[in-house]
Amino acid sequence: MNTIEQFNEHVMPSYGRFDVVMERGSKRTAYDENGKKYIDFGSGIGTNSLGFCDEKWVEAICRQARTIQHTSNYYYTKIQADLAEKLCGMTGYKKMFFGNSGAEANECAIKLARKYSFDKYGKGRHNIITLTNSFHGRTLCTLSATGQDVFHNYFFPFAEGFIYVETNNIDDLKAKLDDTVCAVMFEYVQGEGGVCPLDKEFVNAIFELCAEKDVLTIADEVQTGVGRTGKFLAGENFGKLADITTLAKGLAGGVPIGVCLAGEKCCDVLTKGTHGSTFGGNPISCAGATAVLDRMGGDFLENVTRKGIYLKGKLLEIDEVEKVDGMGLMLGATLKTKKAADIVAAGLESGLLLLTAKEKLRFLPPLTITIEEIDEGIEKLKEIL
Ligand SMILES: *Cc1c(COP(=O)(O)O)cnc(C)c1O
Repeated sequence: MNTIEQFNEHVMPSYGRFDVVMERGSKRTAYDENGKKYIDFGSGIGTNSLGFCDEKWVEAICRQARTIQHTSNYYYTKIQADLAEKLCGMTGYKKMFFGNSGAEANECAIKLARKYSFDKYGKGRHNIITLTNSFHGRTLCTLSATGQDVFHNYFFPFAEGFIYVETNNIDDLKAKLDDTVCAVMFEYVQGEGGVCPLDKEFVNAIFELCAEKDVLTIADEVQTGVGRTGKFLAGENFGKLADITTLAKGLAGGVPIGVCLAGEKCCDVLTKGTHGSTFGGNPISCAGATAVLDRMGGDFLENVTRKGIYLKGKLLEIDEVEKVDGMGLMLGATLKTKKAADIVAAGLESGLLLLTAKEKLRFLPPLTITIEEIDEGIEKLKEIL
């Protein structure tokens, strides 16, 4: 039995997978079990921010595994304290909660917002506004938060308490932001929804209206955060800092983590016993995250912006590309005649890892990708298109 048969025999068939068995990776190149090389334009859906097996990152993780790999949250660890201090310092937030994934980070944000409102105003102000075309995760509650009907099947009953506002429609937001609402949750750039940045005026309206009504803003930066858009937080591109921000995907460079950051106003809402996670703040994940954050200094983020502009320019030179949306190294290309899913399959064939987002071709390369590697990937893409 080969690996794929063995796998399918024993693993639930919940993913559409390609018939490739990945074996190892180095920098921005992955290798399958036959030794075939792939240039990485997807970074494991935006997680391997420093590429595959970055030396300093590996060293940090191995050092931590040899020191203490886990202890429960009944005790303190220095690596958690260091990471929390660093993250708050880099973002301007006051405190954070440690989880293991994007969905968990968002669950924390939802619980926090509801308790903030309950503590201050009592019952009845539990609704959370999310946007059409959003994506917030795969748990029952975050599926409910996700403003796309295709996700609201099979698993009834879904969690109550979510109101969907049409993305970029300020009037719809005004109409629905009533006194049953405790928070507005949004992605600055809708990732799974097709790499669609929100309109600046719409973001301004969210912050203004929420401030008027003491409604919390929750920025789901699970995909956009940690340098992906050329700023540490995508909100910086809009001149905004939400009351709550969630991070996950790229934060620990490819090991599981999810965090919920909160500002002064709501950082002490989740009191003793109100939230928890066995693995949350796992020291190995924290070591990985610390290694990622330590890389973000100097001109690292400017380089992300520079490489993003370069990649976008190269994409726009291709005849088949109609337009390119996104920021930094989070880009989505609309194709004129071809189907993005077919191009991803063809890319795999020719040694290029690509993603889709809705009908677009999505690019989330490792933040450490070089201009030469972008050129190499673009050459392959040109041939395919
Ligand atoms: C990926 C993603 C999530 C879910 O993260 P998981 O780690 O898969 O739970 C939530 N929100 C956004 C914006 C995402 O891109």
